[in-house]
Amino acid sequence: MRELQLGDIIDDYCVKCKRLTNHSVVSIVNAEPAKVRCRTCYHEHDYRHEQPPPSRRDLKKQALFREVLSTIAPDATGEESQKTRGSRKKSTGT
Ligand SMILES: [Zn+2]
Repeated sequence: MRELQLGDIIDDYCVKCKRLTNHSVVSIVNAEPAKVRCRTCYHEHDYRHEQPPPSRRDLKKQALFREVLSTIAPDATGEESQKTRGSRKKSTGT
């Protein structure tokens, strides 16, 4: 398994070029690219997993989808809140 390193060249979608271009990795979080810089226009942005930005309509759909998801599996939407854990209470008994 190859580890990702800063400066590695990966494909990603550039909103400025409006297409997939070569990007160099400028930030890594959890062994995944967090920020990348387009090698064509040098625009720096969050790594998009090669996905073009969703249209407004898609965003609406996504919001709806999340709403539904959160009723079925609340954890599925909590990507951002992972950092806030650690306030677990230990019960001392018996
Ligand atoms: Zn670009």
